[in-house]
Amino acid sequence: MNDITQFVGYSFDRAGQKVIAILLHDTSGGDAWPAQQWLAYWKFQATSDNPTSAHVTVLRDGTALFCVPDTLASAGAGYGVVLGYNQWNPAAGRPEPNLNRACINIEIVAPKAGPVMYPAAQLATVERVCRGYLARYPGIVIYSHAEVDRQAVAQGYSAALAHHDPRDFDMGVWRAKFTLQSDDIRNAAFNAAGIAYNPQAAFPRYARLHDLGAPLTGEFNFTGGDGAQYSGQGFVGGIVYCVTGRWSELKIEIW
Ligand SMILES: [Zn+2]
Repeated sequence: MNDITQFVGYSFDRAGQKVIAILLHDTSGGDAWPAQQWLAYWKFQATSDNPTSAHVTVLRDGTALFCVPDTLASAGAGYGVVLGYNQWNPAAGRPEPNLNRACINIEIVAPKAGPVMYPAAQLATVERVCRGYLARYPGIVIYSHAEVDRQAVAQGYSAALAHHDPRDFDMGVWRAKFTLQSDDIRNAAFNAAGIAYNPQAAFPRYARLHDLGAPLTGEFNFTGGDGAQYSGQGFVGGIVYCVTGRWSELKIEIW
């Protein structure tokens, strides 16, 4: 899907604040709108008395609409709190500084009523957009609107006004995509040894559980003296094998 850049959304100065976070939202509606309708919506919002906006809106088909440049702030989560960045000011009835000045708001288009399923194309674009901003602003953290509002509620914001988006979205799993995982390291090491790595594959998993050490071979097939078809893979601590297909009945043969 092509990205569309039209800076029609409401924006304001970052007032010297550095970007520290990406905030994810879901739109709770407009899921059937084509890109042009979303652009018209953000344009209209920009003229309203209490405008909202987002840097990026990711449509269900994976189209990304860039409506506010990241050098400026958008109005997506003005009441959110990120510990260490801002805190609730009871006198003002809002946190200071305004989190929007330090974040990038991404709206994920979703139906008004849940449960919400996010199409793969849409999630792929959200990931790509997040990676772009992470490369541009190293060290920033991805939060949900729900998380920063929950923090605000803990400091005095009205629980009734707090947002809970994006719905049906596992932030732990999402953030893990953007951190170094053990499987990243294993994958690189297997590849360096010229051996394909599949974290779900039975042999490496079994070898890890039984402390068999590094792989010495890729997966191989052979016929036993009994005439049965077997699969195996050699690791430093032994050869793991099974009747082909019976991945839950693994055995170890020493070299
Ligand atoms: Zn939101």
